[in-house]
Amino acid sequence: MHFRIIDAHAHCGIQDLYPPQSLEDYLDHVRGSEIRGAVFIPPVFEIYDRYDPYFEDNAQWVRRRQSANSYLLSLGGTRFEVFPFFFIWNDFAVEEISEQHKGIKWHRHPDEPVYHYDDPRCSSAIREIRRRNLPVCLEEEFGHTLRFIRDLAPGMSIIIPHCGLLNGGYEGFVRAGIWELPNIHTDTSLVPSSIVGDYVQRYGHSRIMFGSDFPFGDPVSEMRKIQRMGFPEDVKQAILGQNVIRLLGESPGEGGPDPS
Ligand SMILES: [Zn+2]
Repeated sequence: MHFRIIDAHAHCGIQDLYPPQSLEDYLDHVRGSEIRGAVFIPPVFEIYDRYDPYFEDNAQWVRRRQSANSYLLSLGGTRFEVFPFFFIWNDFAVEEISEQHKGIKWHRHPDEPVYHYDDPRCSSAIREIRRRNLPVCLEEEFGHTLRFIRDLAPGMSIIIPHCGLLNGGYEGFVRAGIWELPNIHTDTSLVPSSIVGDYVQRYGHSRIMFGSDFPFGDPVSEMRKIQRMGFPEDVKQAILGQNVIRLLGESPGEGGPDPS
């Protein structure tokens, strides 16, 4: 079997230029390395105005979201393997999800505009995501994360990125028993190796995936961080690519040659 290294968490877009994060920018960072593909998520600032907590929505932002999501769909067919995630916001525009989408991004930080969890469109969106069997990369405040996992979408495949560091902290999810749930996954982007090591020791290596959080993290150094942790070869391969490939339902033998 041909083993591929896939970055399970990278941002990619051409509207938010600070920092630059187009496909070409990403490839500039990984050229010559072993990274063969990436989960691409639109930049947050192409989806909603994260600097205005009272922001609601308008036609201009609807267009900005649509072009952010469709840019990622246009990247298929290159030698570098792209797994686009659909970034959902308060219009819950699930009708824009296509067969090419491999997952959903659901994201907000404290002080950013809130998701309307009580909007009936929210529950129908969750139904549609479930029908399509797509994993949700959920970056939210701690309380909202727990509500989503326990009440809104029980059993759904969820990725809590950064080992929970931006969802209220790794330890909180340890105490709440969340990492033990078979449907909860995580990624290693910008996570200290001490926490990655603790996670693997407690919960095993089948639900944790290498990610970079490009452009905030550097894909190659985030990959080296995992490679240098001294894991056995099978654990390393699982974290660096096999887990994300299995989660996204891709066949392990697919994929193109070296993009460099
Ligand atoms: Zn991110």
